Amino acid sequence: MPFVFDFDHAHRKPPMEMKDLLGGKGANLAEMTSVLELPVPPGFTIAATACRDYMEGGWPTGLTDEVAKARKRLEKKMGKRIGDPSDPLLVSVRSGAKFSMPGMMDTVLNLGLNDHSVEGLAKQTNDERFAFDSYRRFVAMYGRIVLGIPADEFDSLLDAAKELAGTTSDAGVPVELLRYLVDAYQQIVERHTGKPFPQDPDEQLRGAIEAVFASWNGPRAVAYRVRERIAHDLGTAVNVQAMVFGNRDDTSGTGVGFTRDPATGATGEYGDFLVNAQGEDVVAGIRNTEPLSALKDEFPSIHRELLTIFARLEAHYRDMCDTEFTIEQGKLWMLQTRVGKRTGRAALRMAVDMVGEKTIALTREEAVERITGEHLEQVLHPQFSGSGHTVLTRGLGASPGAAVGRVYLTADDAQAAALRGEKVVLVRSETSPEDVHGMLAAEGILTARGGLVSHAAVVARGWGKPAVVGAEALRISGSSFAVGDIVVNEGDWISVDGTDGTVVLGQVAVSQGETPPEFETLLGWADAVRAGHLGVRANADNGPDAANARQHGAEGIGLCRTEHMFLAEDRLPIVRRMILASTVAEEESALEALRVAQRSDFVEILEAMDELPVTIRLLDPPLHEFLPDTQELAIKEATVGLTEEEGRLYEAAKTWHEYNPMLGTRGVRLGVIKPGLYAMQVRALMEAALDRVSVGGHPIVEIMIPLTVSREELALARSWVETAIATAMDASRSGSPSRPGGAKAGTLEVLIGTMIETPRAALRAGEIAEEADFFSFGTNDLTQMTFGFSRDDVEGRMMSAYLEEGLLTRNPFEVVDADGVGELVRLGVERGRTTRPSLKIGVCGEHGGDPESIATFARAGLDYVSCSPFRVPIARLAAAQAVLAGHTSVAPRATSEAAPKAKAKAKR
Ligand code: PEP
Ligand code: MG
Repeated sequence: MPFVFDFDHAHRKPPMEMKDLLGGKGANLAEMTSVLELPVPPGFTIAATACRDYMEGGWPTGLTDEVAKARKRLEKKMGKRIGDPSDPLLVSVRSGAKFSMPGMMDTVLNLGLNDHSVEGLAKQTNDERFAFDSYRRFVAMYGRIVLGIPADEFDSLLDAAKELAGTTSDAGVPVELLRYLVDAYQQIVERHTGKPFPQDPDEQLRGAIEAVFASWNGPRAVAYRVRERIAHDLGTAVNVQAMVFGNRDDTSGTGVGFTRDPATGATGEYGDFLVNAQGEDVVAGIRNTEPLSALKDEFPSIHRELLTIFARLEAHYRDMCDTEFTIEQGKLWMLQTRVGKRTGRAALRMAVDMVGEKTIALTREEAVERITGEHLEQVLHPQFSGSGHTVLTRGLGASPGAAVGRVYLTADDAQAAALRGEKVVLVRSETSPEDVHGMLAAEGILTARGGLVSHAAVVARGWGKPAVVGAEALRISGSSFAVGDIVVNEGDWISVDGTDGTVVLGQVAVSQGETPPEFETLLGWADAVRAGHLGVRANADNGPDAANARQHGAEGIGLCRTEHMFLAEDRLPIVRRMILASTVAEEESALEALRVAQRSDFVEILEAMDELPVTIRLLDPPLHEFLPDTQELAIKEATVGLTEEEGRLYEAAKTWHEYNPMLGTRGVRLGVIKPGLYAMQVRALMEAALDRVSVGGHPIVEIMIPLTVSREELALARSWVETAIATAMDASRSGSPSRPGGAKAGTLEVLIGTMIETPRAALRAGEIAEEADFFSFGTNDLTQMTFGFSRDDVEGRMMSAYLEEGLLTRNPFEVVDADGVGELVRLGVERGRTTRPSLKIGVCGEHGGDPESIATFARAGLDYVSCSPFRVPIARLAAAQAVLAGHTSVAPRATSEAAPKAKAKAKR
């Protein structure tokens, strides 16, 4: 397979489908040249395969020869030679990877100029200034990019030249000084490299191509790929193209044009344009651009030609395209096109509009495939307006949306400030249930530690509150925090973007999320696609969140973390009393308080999700999240002293202290050592369910045991649950349930199942299924335990190094590890269903809201995914896309969400 392809090469399939080989830019240049026959300056593409070979073993054999031949063909087409002293051809050398990485790799322009050809260019263009300005730009660009010379060296000379000429703009530097700059720049090159500036065009070309290859692994490009989840081994293609000049005279110009508005999606062309200018001038904003419509007055025939091209591009790509074009002395040249980037709002409008447009005629399925999770996020959450904000620091984008507020460093202070009417960002080292009132009061949350499934992340996501976690550069002390030398005091304004994890000092303008009408239309189409294949539920812990989730389209609750019902300040002590109780009487009284508190919450949730399944997980409190902080109490004891109650708590907390609480007394283990705990919870739940039945409701209850590792454990827990159900049913039969006059009794269905959160549970799923009506994969813990990565620690400190080194391609707490954790999920599904073919299986770890993970779960044969309420629309879309990609079985499963099998059925 050759490395080099001319833009007009006859490929066997449409070049636009060959981005793997030609890169995005090269594929589209070839498509415009060879298929659409648009006016494109000729050139050739060096395939990404050459870059991959280069990364492995240096300059590929045969490449020099292929480039030389392609250069000859190009020169023949143009009737000019590169480096010709009388009439030189100049070329640009640009990167172009499969996925657009704007500005992340290198470009060399004006290649082919040397001490002789610059004179030829001056003569041919009759513009000496233009020729020498091009040459000095080329020497500086080549010096910086290919030869690695610091840009300052060239810039400081240019500044001096401007000062000498008494001008502030590059354009004001006269030709004599430009000639001098060319000389001086060449001396800089010689000083740095020990060799004169290369005059041979072949050597220049090879240097530029090699520099573009090398820029694939430059720090900017690597960081961009980590953020955008682009694989590090793809490599980039390189495009060598004849240059045209929009800055020749007033019959020339340059612009960027979109075939419709990329911000709103409105039909009609959109863009910017400048007379007598080069591309950089449009982008750099040195001069004020004119709207594309101004072209109509200044270049009417070119305007007509451009609009015809736009129409052809849209019809051909069946999508909105963006373009770069140049007019050189009255002739239009298309320099680039691609399917254009767009805002979420525009994406939705375009996708829905294009279904109704004859020339494009998208199918509904294609429209669904066009939308990404980020598009939906943009319309659901507030965003920073504009771009280019100075970033103070970065953390993990844990809960999307932008928030602006004054810094407060304790939950109490945050709450007090919010009560005074201030907007607040709560900044903590990490959060625990003790901080929840401050988190509730805050617009946004920033933590220095913790990962995507840490307490702060999970709670914030559940509430739809923007959060950045694990911003390791933060040093918090007392009433301020510092990032390097910058100190931010309590009361100072900061802005956080929980979508990409950026933190900005001061108040950034924020645009509110608002869902356009096309949002519902498109999600309706997505639901139709996934119906019967993959359900979407929500993780919600209270009535309002459940109602919100249902409004977002949730088809039930996949996880109600009952310990979250005790996050409120006045309830936390109840859980503590239960955990720390040292006598039977103390424990019973705490359990009774828990029962009363939970019953009313359960009623609200079941009401909000009437007729839809609600999975209630029995208590799973990692003890460190619920116990008082022993360090704080120790300090208090040593300084102001402890109250009697605090002293008791302190003693008990020390007794319960664990070195590794995430692997300690959690989940069903707590149930085993606290007999009566789960029975109490089930009693509260059944009472709530029967209350709902008595008023005509149809609760569907799924009781879930957390952190099970064996059949025996689940059998024991199940026996408590069944006994508690029977007791509650008996009590209601013998008692006189309060039913409002005449209300028809509803129905009640109850299933008992377990979470699969440990590798052992996944491996032994066959026997665990003997005791389970359903499974729900808890992929947060399963990831933690499969990798042995502490979910609260590793992301802040080591994850970025692992991603940059390519040791991991994804943060496994964000995107489920399809090979390892995914294999356990697949095994668990297979073994569970071998025992019990009708086993209903879902996932409720945070991965349930991540599109790529949803595809993995669909492939594993899961019935539903469950995620935080605000991610439900994204999960609905991703589930549909997984179905369209063929990741689910063709026929809906017998155990689909639409037809749950009831184990313990109670009709009253
Ligand atoms: C899980 O482990 O994936 C899960 C959903 O449980 P939690 O995050 O509450 O431990
Ligand atoms: Mg868990």
